[in-house]
Formats: sequence, C-alpha cells, structure tokens
Amino acid sequence: MTEAELQAAVRAFVRDEVAPAAAAWSMGAAPDPALLGRAGALGLMRIQVPAEAGGLGLGFAAKARAAETLARADFGFAMSVVNTQNVALRLVASAERRVWEPLLPDLLSGRSSACTALTEPGAGSDFASISTTARRDGEGWRLDGEKCWVINARHAAFAIVYAQCGEPGDRDGIGAFLVPLDRPGCSRYPLDAPFAQTSMGTGGFRLEGVRIPADHVVFAPGQAFGAILDEINGARAYVAAMCCGMLGAAIEAAGDYGESRRSFGRALAGHQAWRLALARAGVALAAARAITAEAVAAVDRGAPAQLAAAQAKIAAVDTCRRQLPELLHLMGAEGLRPQHPFSRHLAAAEIATLTDGSTEMLLERVHRLMRRAPAP
Ligand SMILES: Cc1cc2nc3c(=O)[nH]c(=O)nc-3n(C[C@H](O)[C@H](O)[C@H](O)COP(=O)(O)OP(=O)(O)OC[C@H]3O[C@@H](n4cnc5c(N)ncnc54)[C@H](O)[C@@H]3O)c2cc1C
Repeated sequence: MTEAELQAAVRAFVRDEVAPAAAAWSMGAAPDPALLGRAGALGLMRIQVPAEAGGLGLGFAAKARAAETLARADFGFAMSVVNTQNVALRLVASAERRVWEPLLPDLLSGRSSACTALTEPGAGSDFASISTTARRDGEGWRLDGEKCWVINARHAAFAIVYAQCGEPGDRDGIGAFLVPLDRPGCSRYPLDAPFAQTSMGTGGFRLEGVRIPADHVVFAPGQAFGAILDEINGARAYVAAMCCGMLGAAIEAAGDYGESRRSFGRALAGHQAWRLALARAGVALAAARAITAEAVAAVDRGAPAQLAAAQAKIAAVDTCRRQLPELLHLMGAEGLRPQHPFSRHLAAAEIATLTDGSTEMLLERVHRLMRRAPAP
C-alpha cells in the first residue's frame, strides 16, 4: 500500500465511520469494538511498523498525517489507535522476537489493543518518582503498584509498564515490562471525566504481586528513562499535528455554518466582525501548521527533535485552546451541539496540555534547550 492510498482510505474511514459516531462518544457511548478492527484492516496500527514484522514500513510523517486526519473527527479515537501502534513498534524494536511474534498479528489487525503506562496516582510529571516496583522473582519478575490515566487501559490486552527496580526516586533504576493485563493480581478500572473518555479508553489498573517471565523485559533497569524521553518527541510532534487537525475541522465547520446561518438579513459570513474572527483562526492555524511540520520532519528523518517537538506541541495546543472557544462562539448556541466538534475538541485540547509532557514541563525543556541552541 502506498502512502497516498493509505491517507485516502483514512479520510474515507473518518468521513464514513468515525465522524458519524463521535457525537455519541462525546456523550458517553462506548465505541463499537469492531471499529478498531476496521481501523486495523486499513493498516492504521501498522503504518510505521517494519515490513518484515508485518507492518507497512512507512515513515513517522505518514503516521502523524493519519493521526491528524483521525483527530479531525475525534482526538480520543486517534489517540487510542496511535497508542496501540506505538506499543507494536516498541515491542518490535526492543523486546525479544519470541515474545512479540505471537502478539503482533492481533495488535496490527486491531483485534486487540495495548497501552503504555507511566503515570500513577502519586506521580505524573515527576516520572522518576513512580512507586510501582518490579522485583526479581525466581527466573522472572513480580510487579506491584498502580497506574492511572492510561489510554486504552479499559480494553488493552497488555501494557508496557514502567516500574522502579531500584531505590525510590532513582531514574537509573526504572525498567519497562510487558504485562498481559489478564494476569492474576491485575485489576483494571475505567476513568471518566465530564468529557467522556470512552473513545480514548482511559483507565487504570492495579498490580498486586503480578508475575511475568524474564523475557517480558522491554527495557532493562536503567534503560527505560532515557528511552521514553527519546520516544516521546514523536508523540509530541503527532499531538501537535492532531491539534492542527482538530482546529482545521473546527474552522471548516464554522465556515460552513457562517454561509448558511442568517442574521439581520444576511449570512453570518456577510458580517465583517464575524468573518474576521474566522480569518484570525485561519492565520493561527497556518502558524501552528508551520511549526508542527518542522517537528514532524525532524522526527521523520531521525534528526534531534527535542526542541522542535516541544515547541510544536506547546504552540499547537495553545493555538487550539485560544481559537476553539472563539470558533464555538461564532456558531452561537448551535456550536454546543455534540454533532459539531467544538466542545469535544476543546476538551481534547485541554487533555493535550497534559499528555506526553505537560505544557509547563515542556516550557522548562524549551528554556534549557534554547540556551544551548546556536543562534539562528
Ligand atoms: C486523558 C489522558 C490520557 C493520558 N494517557 C496517558 C497514557 O496513556 N499513559 C500514561 O502513562 N499517562 C497518561 N496520561 C497522564 C499524563 O501523562 C499526566 O497527566 C501528565 O504527566 C501530568 O501528570 P499529572 O496529571 O499527575 O499532573 P502533576 O504532575 O500532578 O501536575 C499538576 C500540574 O502542575 C504542573 N506542574 C507539575 N510539576 C511542575 C513544575 N515542576 N513546574 C511547573 N508546573 C508543574 C503540571 O504541568 C500540571 O499542570 C494521560 C492523561 C490524561 C488526562
């Protein structure tokens, strides 16, 4: 499958299947599990996975573009899909082949899903302070602790769990482990919020004496902290792209409404004050797209992307947070209806301020990197 074929298929899937269902999800309905299967059949869980492992072997930019298209309709569903793919990629890159080979067909086809679990009730931004432990247990490992606010945790077949193998607070003691979530001692729960978390599958799980074999180590103790910092640049870049997708969809929806809704004898778009607000959102989107494209290109070619990815995520998320309320306002009361994307995209933009590094954490990073970067 070429990238052009993939992106055309994603656009049709979003138009015909994701967008029509998203209004109900935002009101709390759960997605039909078969939809993840249809996303899998299109290749959405295998875009960046190497061809020899059954993937499409396309680049990061293709994954970011597909995530952006999905997010135009529903950020949560897009995050669910991309997180399963990330686990597939991580396992192929870092786990033992005999461990991932039997799991991959179900993952890539969307028959099962997976999640990446760092956050805990007591530790979010301060990742080094996680208290989930992994201790040697005969030939294998025993895990104890709790993870929360994890995308796909409601339905994932397994998780990559980050756990402390050494002393509390020691970033060099953290390892990562493949944990099947049906193991004895593992219990999961959904996490909800006024913005329904169904399409993102947000949840948590407790691990009480969960035993896993020795070959389920994904990152040995000491390797996990650095590895996740590298991987997260890609996540920041695609979250920025997804924000551009959400804002682009909202601008189009408001633009269409402005042509059809009339006030004082003319279309809303016939009023200068109304259309200038729409134009301002378009300018802001163009700026966010430019900085996002730079970050996506850097990740795609394997160049250092820490600064570009952090800047893109901050800029695109902030742009969404500023412009989406303005666009909702341009719609009048109609903008609040769930069949329009404004309120769910606005809630998603708030979530995007937290996932994959909160805005404050990223600003700290930008400050550090700016001081090191050569003058332009
Ligand atoms: C819907 C959703 C999905 C998520 N999915 C996942 C997932 O799949 N896997 C996963 O592991 N995690 C996930 N997360 C968790 C996310 O990564 C955390 O929310 C994030 O790391 C922030 O941690 P926290 O919420 O505990 O906030 P805290 O760390 O408690 O921070 C609270 C606030 O204080 C600010 N703050 C903290 N420290 C500082 C500081 N030093 N200086 C200035 N400000 C500071 C933060 O920016 C934030 O605004 C998800 C979260 C949400 C909401």
